[in-house]
Amino acid sequence: MAERRLQVTSRLGLHARAAANLVRVASQFQSTLTLQRLDGNAEADAKSILSILTLAASRGTDLKIVANGVDEEEALDAVIGLFSRDFDETEKVDGEKFTHATSELRCKGLGVSDGVVIGRVLRLQEGTHNVYRAEIAEADLERERRRFRAAVRLSRRQLEAIKDRAEKELGRGHAYIFDAHLLFLQDAKLTRDVEDYIVKERSNAEWAAKVVGDRLLSIYTQINDDYLRERGSDIEDVIQRLLANLTGEVLKYPNLSEDAVIVSTDLLPSTIAELNLKHVKAIATDAGGWTSHMAIITRGLGLTTVVGLRDFYQRTRTGDSIIVDASRGEVILHPAPETIEQYKFTVHDPAPAAVEANAINCGPVVTSDGVQITLRANVELPTEFQAVNDFGACGVGLFRSEFLLSRPGLMSSEAEQYEAYKALTIATGEYGAIVRLFDVGGEFGSDVKDRERNPALGLRAVRFNLRNKQVMRTQVRAILRAAAAGRLSLVIPMVGDVGDVRLAKRVIEEELERLASEKATFAEVRIGAMIEIPSAVLTAEKIAGEVDFFELGTNDLVQYTLAVDRGNDKVSEWFRTLHPAVLYGISRTLEAGRTAQIPVIVCGEMASTPAYAVLLAGFGAIDLSMIPAMIPRVRNVLSQIKAEEAREVALKCLAAATADEVEELVRIEFRRRWPELFPPNALPMAAETVQ
Ligand code: PEP
Ligand code: MG
Repeated sequence: MAERRLQVTSRLGLHARAAANLVRVASQFQSTLTLQRLDGNAEADAKSILSILTLAASRGTDLKIVANGVDEEEALDAVIGLFSRDFDETEKVDGEKFTHATSELRCKGLGVSDGVVIGRVLRLQEGTHNVYRAEIAEADLERERRRFRAAVRLSRRQLEAIKDRAEKELGRGHAYIFDAHLLFLQDAKLTRDVEDYIVKERSNAEWAAKVVGDRLLSIYTQINDDYLRERGSDIEDVIQRLLANLTGEVLKYPNLSEDAVIVSTDLLPSTIAELNLKHVKAIATDAGGWTSHMAIITRGLGLTTVVGLRDFYQRTRTGDSIIVDASRGEVILHPAPETIEQYKFTVHDPAPAAVEANAINCGPVVTSDGVQITLRANVELPTEFQAVNDFGACGVGLFRSEFLLSRPGLMSSEAEQYEAYKALTIATGEYGAIVRLFDVGGEFGSDVKDRERNPALGLRAVRFNLRNKQVMRTQVRAILRAAAAGRLSLVIPMVGDVGDVRLAKRVIEEELERLASEKATFAEVRIGAMIEIPSAVLTAEKIAGEVDFFELGTNDLVQYTLAVDRGNDKVSEWFRTLHPAVLYGISRTLEAGRTAQIPVIVCGEMASTPAYAVLLAGFGAIDLSMIPAMIPRVRNVLSQIKAEEAREVALKCLAAATADEVEELVRIEFRRRWPELFPPNALPMAAETVQ
């Protein structure tokens, strides 16, 4: 056995990156290597990053290093050498800036609503705290351990990808923190302890990971050194990732402070539904685009939101001060006092439409040349049902029912669904509502290995329903029963052709028969098809023969026509709603509906944007469904234009070759024809094109 004494001299002490380097050096030797604090009993294994970090050795700490084994002297030399070289940190300044910047930092994203908010960051990582204890049978313990190891492997792959990206885009100095995260995942103190806990306590993997993670975190919160204590959030990140990969569960934050600005990599719509919205002032996320579901919902809720901020989440800490400027698509972290002063004058709530709603007009709008256009509401959450009437909607054109599901993988019962649909029916009265069958995808295979490589092209929407008939039957029964209380229709999402429609209708008919034989109270409903993928557009005439109405989902139509992932910020500049190919698809679908004499309700985000709504009217759309808060604005614009003029513009657009050409045409024509209705900033291009 050999030992030496030394003092930690580096400015930041034995922090994550230094510890990662120490682990790397110590692991090259066979001897055991232990670090002991001389001011107490704390000791750490120099080959375990978590163990080293819990030593909380800040600058000036005296340590004893003990080596034991065949190469003990060489091991001690190497470790002492590393300490004397300040842990080989060459890019310290940059690296610290990345994780701990306190100077003002501006990041550009995409504003998907209005509003400017000054607040404090609340970091929220998807998929965690609702972890429950389950007792695992003796025979299944090995499977549970394997499940945990699979989640560790998946987390490692994810972190390697993040690290690569950070290295490429930000440089090596910014990527180092992910080295530490990767080492946490390899550390026996985490992995072995979790596996031991599973076996000893016959516990499910989620619970074991949470207990072990909490223990590590509690050690961190007691550390005296501010900088080292903050590194606890790195461990938290890793544990959250593991839990997310194990469960896909969602955080609950009941104790939000008044001025919370939620910062996240991405947010599930169900997480937004769970937040206490009274205390959320704004949202800023790394991922997302104008039509990602999260953006649609936050816009509907009038929440100031900036998406597509790339690596912003990693730069923040809970409690940091922040300005979110959705009007300019910008966030400012650690704003300087002068910046806050400037912004104080511009802070405003993003829901001016609510004021307009006082002078509410109901019923369809009539253009100045006499064309009647029905304006309906899209709703996602039961809390929005009331807004439908507040904003003068003609009922609900699209209820995205999947948001009834509180979290991925958890289905709600027929009784719960029935209550929700009945409440919707009652709230929407004479106009009624259209319920979409669950438009869910791969997340219902909650097992990590079941996740699909390409969920947007996978077992989604009608395909999911047809493959999971029990889920579909439960929902269909709930809808048919609730239909007895008022006017309810049902729409089948993302059909590829009339074959999908026929299969879905067969299930609906079977449930109608079953309800009749049970002598239940129910009513028949009108059945529609969502037209949102090119194959459905191109065979729309055939589909029209088998349904009562179409719903034109322009969000997915853009995504699938242009092959652009609607939620991927990296390709948001290719997401062009006004692409001529999309306009052709819209025009063709409307035409097919007219020929078959069935209604076509346009329900994508396009209908919520006044200038686009005019263009849709130009293509002959007479039924639009949109975010409730936008109805008064769309009504105002449509009531002042001539549909015939809109048609002239629409036809010109159809003849264009590119989205740029269409946008230019729209700018010129709209300004010329309706200058008072469309000042430059009211034209949609600014909001949606390349930022
Ligand atoms: C659409 O795709 O346009 C649509 C209305 O549905 P969602 O946005 O929910 O996919
Ligand atoms: Mg869709």
